[in-house]
Amino acid sequence: MATNYYDILGVSKSASADEIKRAYRKLAHQYHPDKGSGNEQKFKDVNEAYQVLSDQGKRQQYDTYGSTFEQAQRNGGGFPGGGSAYGGNPFAGGNPFGEGIEFDLGDIFGDMFGGGRQRESRSRRGIDLEMGLRLTFEEAVFGAEKQVTLEKQDACKTCGGSGAAPGAKIMTCPKCHGQGQIRTQRRTIFGNIQSAVSCDRCEGTGKVPETACATCRGSGVLRQEKTISVKIPAGIDNGQRVRVQGEGEAGYRGSEPGDLYLIMQVGPSRFFVRDGFNLQMELPVSFTQAALGAKLMVQTLDGAIELKIPAGTQSGAVLKVKDKGVPHLNQPGRRGDLLVTVRVLIPSKLSKKEKELLKQLAEERGETVEVDRSFWENIKGSF
Ligand SMILES: [Zn+2]
Ligand SMILES: [Zn+2]
Repeated sequence: MATNYYDILGVSKSASADEIKRAYRKLAHQYHPDKGSGNEQKFKDVNEAYQVLSDQGKRQQYDTYGSTFEQAQRNGGGFPGGGSAYGGNPFAGGNPFGEGIEFDLGDIFGDMFGGGRQRESRSRRGIDLEMGLRLTFEEAVFGAEKQVTLEKQDACKTCGGSGAAPGAKIMTCPKCHGQGQIRTQRRTIFGNIQSAVSCDRCEGTGKVPETACATCRGSGVLRQEKTISVKIPAGIDNGQRVRVQGEGEAGYRGSEPGDLYLIMQVGPSRFFVRDGFNLQMELPVSFTQAALGAKLMVQTLDGAIELKIPAGTQSGAVLKVKDKGVPHLNQPGRRGDLLVTVRVLIPSKLSKKEKELLKQLAEERGETVEVDRSFWENIKGSF
């Protein structure tokens, strides 16, 4: 061919990728065989020129080898990433894209040259991870800073997740020609349907490294151990999940990472049973304390406090200690209550004097009691 690719597109040898694209689109519209101004040969030439000049690698080779490269290009081989630039006339037998539908030719032909096969759109986002995290009762109640070690696909340290060998040149993606998208055209009974999916070769960036990172073989990710520090909020409960954004597995070649979900496994307390943000505990009280009333020391999350047992408290009665429960999750300052269930204990061992006093009490209250010795022995034995 007498004229070179730059002349065909009417651009200078130093034209930018944008200039080349603009020139190509203009000419492709102009020479489209279906148009009045159409010219099939020129249309083919324009597309051939664009296919080479829009690809940084091919453009470099073309600049170096010139027409030899052009020849190879037309013969359908001889250059890397190759194949025929233009596999015959796409308009033989009429417009394959149907009538009456406006298309951006630049995009359509970009796809054709990329060999744009219909492809399912798939996300390269890193997967989410889930793991259990053990907490003590107090850590769950008051919150904690925990170190979590997990083995996962994480960004490759050699290439920082890009998948490019250190120092490798970044070139225009040969599959999508820097568009970042692969558009496909399907003929259906409803007409032609055009769909665009993110280019899987360059992850939609339009750029790929010339040489892949040897450590991760270009994926940008490697399985490795990582320790992270996670802040667990006060008031979290057993079975609840904490989401740690971006700490799932790394995405393919720098794509968005997944999230890490930590599932709380909260240990028991010696004193309390948790019920939402309230705490429950049992308090053993002697029957005289229950009858006469008393002030008793009880354990709370914030240390021991004095609790007043009113006179005549029944076994099973619940005494509420306000604001001594669990801090409400994500509501600073708000706390549940401590609910104290009174258990009145009946003494199983009595001294002679105690028996005497109780007998007097029974008589005073007009209650019948058995004071037979063997009865008391039996009672003692059964406790
Ligand atoms: Zn790497
Ligand atoms: Zn691409």
